[in-house]
Amino acid sequence: MKSQEYIDLEEKIGAHNYHPLDVVLSRGEGVWVYDVDGNKYLDCLSSYSALNQGHIHPRILNALIQQAGKLTLTSRAFRNDQLALFYKELSELTGYEMVLPMNSGAEAVETALKVARKWGYVSKQVPRNKAEIIVAEGNFHGRTISIISFSSEPLYKDDFGPHTPGFVSVKFGDTQELEKAITPYTVAVMIEPIQGESGVNIPPAGYIKEVRSLCTKNNVLFIADEIQTGLGRTGKLLATMHDDVRADVVILGKALGGGFYPVSAVLADRSILGLINPGEHGSTFGGNPLAAAVARESLKVLVEEKMIENAAIQGEYFLEQLSEINSPKIKEVRGKGLLIGVEIKEEAGGARKYCEALKNEGILAKETHQQIIRFAPPLIIDRPTIDWALEKIRKVLLDS
Ligand SMILES: *Cc1c(COP(=O)(O)O)cnc(C)c1O
Repeated sequence: MKSQEYIDLEEKIGAHNYHPLDVVLSRGEGVWVYDVDGNKYLDCLSSYSALNQGHIHPRILNALIQQAGKLTLTSRAFRNDQLALFYKELSELTGYEMVLPMNSGAEAVETALKVARKWGYVSKQVPRNKAEIIVAEGNFHGRTISIISFSSEPLYKDDFGPHTPGFVSVKFGDTQELEKAITPYTVAVMIEPIQGESGVNIPPAGYIKEVRSLCTKNNVLFIADEIQTGLGRTGKLLATMHDDVRADVVILGKALGGGFYPVSAVLADRSILGLINPGEHGSTFGGNPLAAAVARESLKVLVEEKMIENAAIQGEYFLEQLSEINSPKIKEVRGKGLLIGVEIKEEAGGARKYCEALKNEGILAKETHQQIIRFAPPLIIDRPTIDWALEKIRKVLLDS
């Protein structure tokens, strides 16, 4: 089948909840992907950071194949020989006492919200059904009804009410507003250390530390949604580590599955996650042996192959080189590690047309929120490949 036939078929039968670039991929390897016509592209999106380890990492592939031939699903009605080891390794790596496994990111966010509410009622003694959770404007935490209820993006929420109550939204990066929003009923503050989907928004210096201290002072849980920023993306294991901050609850997803399988998890200490009792929460697929085996190997390669260090080194270089592109079309270049946003001035048109032009040059990137091109290649990218990409990016931003 030709590229256009796949596109036409997809558009005809599939719901139009995405507006993809018209490239039909059929193979991936490392930082590269290939389309059905044999063209080769550099993946600069990494499936929104779910591919930190690159496409088809051989060790993760092997773990998947080995486990797929042994045992794939038990449900949590029975135990399996992978889950306990996944818990142990994830807990040792991150320094949290307990883990609750789920599948998608949104499910893990929902889980963290439930855990925070339960903690509020049992531990903080907030009156039943009064718990408030503070979030930040511009947030992206997923697509469930409750999560879109506290989104500030009309497109995500306006046609999908009635919305779930119990959430308060404050300006991202503004600790005064946050402090004012905290009440005796506040059980948690949930933020992304860097807002990925809303355009790689980096908060002012000191913000994460101040959120931490406000939470501590007011007996409020700090929930860090590290689904996109975590697992090395910003050059540290967790983005909060840049500020030496330890959140009370950390949410992981995306790269936890190494690009092979949906795996997410909520991490916290026993005083919080230990409050969940049998029957209060669950998932048929959460913590299945295939997921656990894939996640275990995904974490191992991330650490053993020094992908986090590489993200810091290559990210610094990539950011510096992008910042030096002297194009009248660029409003700002910002980022941390290999999570980089290039904001295009409005008078230069939307970011989409630059993503189309980049595609024609062999680079796959995706616009986020009209004006921003996000560059987030797999963490295994090397310097020569970045130099190759920079040449193409310069061409597109300077000539087109
Ligand atoms: C992608 C993302 C989610 C949602 O993850 P899904 O697996 O798509 O449900 C939640 N939070 C953040 C910060 C994300 O980037």
